[in-house]
Amino acid sequence: MNRFILAVTAALCATGVARAEVTQDDITNDQTNTAQIVTNGMGQQLQRFSPLDTLNKDNVKNLVPAWAFSLGGEKQRGQETQPLIHEGIMYITGSYSRLYAIDVNTGNELWQFDARLPEGILPCCDVINRGAALYGDKIYFGTLDARIVALNAKTGDVVWNKKIAEYKEGYSYTAAPLIVNGLVVTGNSGGEFGIVGEVQARDAETGDLVWTRPVIEGHMGTYKGEESTMTGTLNATWPGDLWKTGGGATWLGGSYDAETDTLVFGTGNPAPWNSHLRNAGTPVDGNTGDNLYAASRLGINPENGEIKWHFQTTPREGWDYDGVNEVVAFTDAEGKKKFATADRNGFFYVLNREDGKFLNAWPFVKDISWASGIDENGRPIYNEENRPGDPAKAADGAKGEVVFSSPSFLGGKNWMPMAYSQKTGLFYVPSNEWGMDIWNEPISYKKGAAYLGSGFTIKPNYEDHIGSLKAIDPMTGEWKWEYKNDAPLWGGVMTTAGGLVFFGTPEGEFKALDDETGEELWSFQTGSGIVGQPVTWEQDGEQYVSIVSGWGGAVPLWGGEVAKKVNYLNQGGLVWTFKLPKQLAMAN
Ligand code: CA
Repeated sequence: MNRFILAVTAALCATGVARAEVTQDDITNDQTNTAQIVTNGMGQQLQRFSPLDTLNKDNVKNLVPAWAFSLGGEKQRGQETQPLIHEGIMYITGSYSRLYAIDVNTGNELWQFDARLPEGILPCCDVINRGAALYGDKIYFGTLDARIVALNAKTGDVVWNKKIAEYKEGYSYTAAPLIVNGLVVTGNSGGEFGIVGEVQARDAETGDLVWTRPVIEGHMGTYKGEESTMTGTLNATWPGDLWKTGGGATWLGGSYDAETDTLVFGTGNPAPWNSHLRNAGTPVDGNTGDNLYAASRLGINPENGEIKWHFQTTPREGWDYDGVNEVVAFTDAEGKKKFATADRNGFFYVLNREDGKFLNAWPFVKDISWASGIDENGRPIYNEENRPGDPAKAADGAKGEVVFSSPSFLGGKNWMPMAYSQKTGLFYVPSNEWGMDIWNEPISYKKGAAYLGSGFTIKPNYEDHIGSLKAIDPMTGEWKWEYKNDAPLWGGVMTTAGGLVFFGTPEGEFKALDDETGEELWSFQTGSGIVGQPVTWEQDGEQYVSIVSGWGGAVPLWGGEVAKKVNYLNQGGLVWTFKLPKQLAMAN
């Protein structure tokens, strides 16, 4: 460090301006800046790839805990957050809408914010939170009562607190907010309650709404407080009034592709699950029953919320195959700009990044039963007999024909993010091999009540494993290797230029695998199941790795035969931070 920098640093400290704010440049360059992590996905591309190679295949065995931090309280349950790192502070969110600021050097708490949640919140699938967003001098996160809160990142004081939607109707929010050019962009949760999926953009400074975009056809968007345009064409793909409670929750949030200036949001299942009520079972009168834009990926103009393109992974959806899974931007081996996404429905899709057009799809799980493949237009080739039957055709009108469908409604892959390695050109996809008995029942919409019209029993497809981490070539769909795990995988994956693939298991093990062979190189028992998302960064010449441990999420909420694999697992709530000490970085 030269004298000039020392002098400037001293001057900044003397005037109390020691902390820099998070800028759009910080966000844009997050993937390459190894000193900080200011975005969900470790970069806007969502690759969860770190260019750090200090930690590598030879020395990862020397990775040791630096500190652990307990989320405390009587309330535990699933901890699905991704830590953010900025200026010596780690920010994590916790179950029950909590947010913590932690000193990265010591593991000491700096401040904690607990959202005051009202009685009667309606989270469908555990009281989790998947992370916060940093911008300017603020940190933003969503709460289980469907609000978005902005806090002063230094003090934890509330700057503003806005309602995304009415929690009494079944809305909630758990995804990391997205920051794009001064906007805070959020989705919504509640697809099992007949809500309407929407994307909202707010002024990051004030929290004022700039635009809204409902994702189900027939609903009107808004721009600066006035109606803008209708989403899709009324009744083109939805019969009658069902679009009014059509689902399509945007519950996993979205991403931003700077190269095409496009927001990308996924949309959940159309509501209700019983597809025969939505014309999706037997298309009639020219109405396809595709139920746009549920179970889709949408490209959205960040300026005004207009839809630029859509790609529907599961038209005529009838198995709860939400289309929300993350869309990762990458440049392929031939230099082509593409998106990849591994859908709940069991297929791994590659799309053109310019227009969202379908390029390719391959199965990433075994035993897909509902479709025999994907045609050249990206449309499923249905096995019609594998659609759960219409209860209206049953003798008693109460329960339609039961079918065994695979993957299960929890998906070939659920929310847990995959990673892409720029080193190997492979995707590392956390998947699950399971199916379900599923049937349909009559249902009518009632505000704030579950709106499924379906019943199900989830089942493992194999005795020795459900979880399956696969290395997938996005040029061919080929699986390079598979790592099997007894319990279903429910946490995120991270890759590094050091050739490592990090992920955690419900059994509590935080693992590093060889990116080329899948061989296990390192493992650490964290004391509770891992459903969080790993990160890595560099500080004072040392490489750090963090993961939040704390078993929960959707898996333990459902019974069936899967319960046997997880009902012995203990809850928890700890941040584990590891580092490779300098003196061991050289060692082999
Ligand atoms: Ca769903």
